[in-house]
Amino acid sequence: MATVVQKFGGTSIADATKLFAAAQKALLRNIQGDRVVVVVSAMGHQTDVLVDLAKQITDQPSAREMDMLLSTGEQVSVALFAMAVHSLGGKAVSLTGAQIGIRTDSTHTKARIRSISTDQITKLLDDGNIVIAAGFQGFDQNGNITTLGRGGSDTTAVALAAVLEADVCEIYTDVDGVYTTDPRCFTEARCLPSISYDEMLELASLGAGVMHSRSIEFAKKFGVKVLVRSSFRDAAGTLIVATDQSIQRPVSGIALAKDESRITLEGVPDQPGASHALFSQLASAGIAVDMIVQNMGRLGLADISFTVPVEDLTLSLEVTRRVATSLGAKDVSHDASLAKISVVGAGMAREEGVAGRMFSSLARQNINVRMITTSEIKISVLVDRPDAQAAIRAVHQAFSLETFDTDSTEEQSHAARKRLSKTNPLEVVRRLEGMEDLAVEDVSLDSSQSLVTFTDLPDRPGVAADVFEEIGRAGLFVDMIVQSHPRDNRAELSFTVPACDQVRALETAGTIAATRGAKVSNVPHVAKLSITGVGMRSHAGVADRLFAPLMREGINIDLISTSEVRLNIVVAAEHGARSLAVLRQAFGLSVDN
Ligand code: ADP
Ligand code: ASP
Ligand code: MG
Repeated sequence: MATVVQKFGGTSIADATKLFAAAQKALLRNIQGDRVVVVVSAMGHQTDVLVDLAKQITDQPSAREMDMLLSTGEQVSVALFAMAVHSLGGKAVSLTGAQIGIRTDSTHTKARIRSISTDQITKLLDDGNIVIAAGFQGFDQNGNITTLGRGGSDTTAVALAAVLEADVCEIYTDVDGVYTTDPRCFTEARCLPSISYDEMLELASLGAGVMHSRSIEFAKKFGVKVLVRSSFRDAAGTLIVATDQSIQRPVSGIALAKDESRITLEGVPDQPGASHALFSQLASAGIAVDMIVQNMGRLGLADISFTVPVEDLTLSLEVTRRVATSLGAKDVSHDASLAKISVVGAGMAREEGVAGRMFSSLARQNINVRMITTSEIKISVLVDRPDAQAAIRAVHQAFSLETFDTDSTEEQSHAARKRLSKTNPLEVVRRLEGMEDLAVEDVSLDSSQSLVTFTDLPDRPGVAADVFEEIGRAGLFVDMIVQSHPRDNRAELSFTVPACDQVRALETAGTIAATRGAKVSNVPHVAKLSITGVGMRSHAGVADRLFAPLMREGINIDLISTSEVRLNIVVAAEHGARSLAVLRQAFGLSVDN
């Protein structure tokens, strides 16, 4: 007898007919002998309707009351769903988040799950019921209703699957599965038969709205098998698994975050502690920053740029201006009309020239790249918002994703399905106090990298493409790439290569710089530290936990890149071992490893 969690999104239960169809799916499984837990969202666009209602009353509703309001959407759905099962002749009981025992912290409107008690659900399942659980909601230690953030029903579903040790968590939605990019924005997108947790985590946190990224955090931490499939068509769907054959392809998908804004703290005295001051204040305000780029700094003054969603811009600017004053920075600038395009692929870490291919495809469309950061399995670029669609199209074609061969991977995905047995929760999970705590798996040091930096690169379309095409032709394997927000029409671009390639890299960079009026500098040996885990970007305080101990040691960070599964920093070679020790300690890992 299998335990199955089935989650139905808003469009899948938008009216009575659809609700009955969903109830039938659940009942059929139950009749086949499986224990079935159903998680439902609010019907149709009910949550948006409730948000609009609140806006008609006030511009600044209290977060607690918003949760009280928004949670009603799911309460309607569970009751109607249970009634539908009853009228089809089945046994079902509906439960709210509090009735299930989903305990969260008190961060209203984006609460994190601390624990879930399974007693009530297990008892009801033992009695032969289908349990209909309200998605998206929980309660805090004072009994207040909380919600998990928009799209949070996915997280309820996967979290329940984790604690119930379900055999599968099926996510029923309005598309056939996870596509190479949003199929509603780009019709040539293809449905992927399977994808790895890490890729899905990156895609979801970078804007692919098909899954709530925190649900994939749970899936990865607890080894939950997730199947995303259509409510309306009998298609195979996409299996989200620990390791996937996607390692064979350099790029699995492209995500778009279309409402991004950039803030730059200009002319900060370049000393350890500036970043800490900024990012700790932002973290205390509950803001999770995304791309972070620090220029190396001229005349002892550096620029620190970062991106946040437009909805967080006002608060972020307030905090940044306060920090600017206390640090004696020259200015704070911002741009609210940007979009972030990210390509994600587990295979890119092994293939040369992926960045070059991406940048060239953008250059051919005359799209200017405003900022770049990369990590092992993703490359993110910031472009002007009006260029976003053209950028997606160009990059999708550059990696031939529209001709993605689903047949051959279908077989591989069957093999993955077969191989998949319930994984034991990771060791790291046992250390967590709350289920949704940040899970840091490891901090490691790589002392084999060399850092090359261009300064004064002209800010125009095609520059990054020229640089990385040339580097690709030289057969150099580039690891991290970071391009700053341009100032006075000049940008700074840094990348790392294996130290053994340093001489060739510098030669190539010198030629490129000479033809573009730019300058090149090089640090032959640098230390790159990587912090791997789950939720690295979305937990607002991670950057803070990273900067604080380094600041205390007087260690300056030269380069940083953030991603959902990995945070990389580059520091001077002589600080490598010390940085490793303090970071391992800061993240609760044994120091002697
Ligand atoms: P639900 O209500 O079922 O939770 P959502 O609207 O939250 O559904 O998520 C499904 C939507 O996600 C799709 O309709 C699609 O427009 C969007 N989407 C964005 N990126 C992707 C992607 N890479 N693959 C599939 N769908 C995507
Ligand atoms: N109803 C909530 C929302 O619209 C949660 C969800 O659908 O997952 O965001
Ligand atoms: Mg959703």
